[in-house]
Amino acid sequence: MITVTENLSFLSDLLRQAATDAGRDPAHVRLLAVSKKQPVDKIREALAAGQRDFGENFVQEGLEKIRALAGCDLTWHFIGRLQSNKTRVVAENFDWVHTIDKLKTARRLSAQRPAGMPPLNVCLQVNVDGEATKSGIAPHEVPELAAACADLPNLAFRGLMCLPAIREDIDAQRVPFAALRTLAEQLRRDGIETDTLSMGMTADFRAAIFEGATIVRIGTAIFGSRG
Ligand SMILES: *Cc1c(COP(=O)(O)O)cnc(C)c1O
Repeated sequence: MITVTENLSFLSDLLRQAATDAGRDPAHVRLLAVSKKQPVDKIREALAAGQRDFGENFVQEGLEKIRALAGCDLTWHFIGRLQSNKTRVVAENFDWVHTIDKLKTARRLSAQRPAGMPPLNVCLQVNVDGEATKSGIAPHEVPELAAACADLPNLAFRGLMCLPAIREDIDAQRVPFAALRTLAEQLRRDGIETDTLSMGMTADFRAAIFEGATIVRIGTAIFGSRG
């Protein structure tokens, strides 16, 4: 039985190798362990192995895990679809939200962020594939929503996130990630500070790292298959 600890060790070698091959500093690629549908025990094992960032997709499940692990030194990222009636729990309990796709959601998160907590870090989810079925905003909507998020008092606008379809080979897989990188470069030229590209999962992290991913969101390669 391969353990979470062994998986993390193997994966961190692969991430380091990808960054090095891409001519990047491996310290600039942060591993977000996606723990959705995985038991708290596996999160504890990852914590013991030194993993600090965890991602959850469902508000209630995430909240239960945050409560179960209260007092542990970790950072919680919300990476699922966020309905506007669930924003309060997220604003009060998470450190990051990667999936902003509406100004209304961003405004609610800012308004509901408790005083005394640091600003909530946010990324915009961008539909770089243009598939009708995928969530996220269209590329042309990025500048306006990014500027609006950057202006909200209790949010820290960090960057962009995407979840493209899986392609046949690495060159094809780099295309959507390059599109996200280009959008972030455009924001910088427009004077909007951004330091985060949240892109790459178990199947496509190497392509994402080649295109500048600063956060890779990986579940299966760490925890095994879900449920
Ligand atoms: C589930 C999920 C991941 C992790 O996917 P794996 O293929 O298990 O690595 C990453 N990002 C998002 C948004 C997810 O929902």
